[in-house]
Amino acid sequence: MTLAIFDMDNTLIDRAAAFHGWATELVARLGLAPAELEWLIASDGDGFSSRSAFAAHVKERYGLDAPVEDVLRDVRTGVLDRVEPYPGATEALDQIRRDGWLIALATNGGTENQWAKIRRLGLEAHVDAIAVSGEVGAHKPDRRMFEAAAARCGVTLAATDWMVGDCPTRDIGGAQALGLRTIWMRRGRAWQSSAPSPTAIADTVPQAVAFLTEV
Ligand SMILES: [Mg+2]
Repeated sequence: MTLAIFDMDNTLIDRAAAFHGWATELVARLGLAPAELEWLIASDGDGFSSRSAFAAHVKERYGLDAPVEDVLRDVRTGVLDRVEPYPGATEALDQIRRDGWLIALATNGGTENQWAKIRRLGLEAHVDAIAVSGEVGAHKPDRRMFEAAAARCGVTLAATDWMVGDCPTRDIGGAQALGLRTIWMRRGRAWQSSAPSPTAIADTVPQAVAFLTEV
């Protein structure tokens, strides 16, 4: 059986849109200049910047009385309440699993926060295994995340396996280092990494899955 490991945030689920929704609401709630939306999005760094540092910067920049922990909870709840799978994503996973593929989800992030998103969207029902870096004890691009995803599917990684993700270094670079094949979720960007090009580039999950089933 061939294994395809999928990243979660901004690959299967639209975290960027959810964050944008929260940030837009914050700008309105605090009566901020519209340009602050850009600052919030840049500071968030697609969720990769330190969460506590981001919350502390928001608190400081807008002179909030609330403790940093409350600001952090506001962001997390705001994203969690708004996040949705990309159109056709879960249906595409169901289809490729029916075709005999093993599908794992490998996501970087805190255990509680990532599992809150997984549970709210019912993603367990659409994959064979889930690896969250907080519980694995290593983050992509660390090989242990890819190995954990495979092990939880009951297999070991093979050169015929795939990684699908939006991060050039964590997802694509990490998988390439293990000899896996890769699909980069473009999200409107150009491939700029100094790493070797991904095997394929896709704009949507159904497109990525169609590519996998046609290889
Ligand atoms: Mg991602």
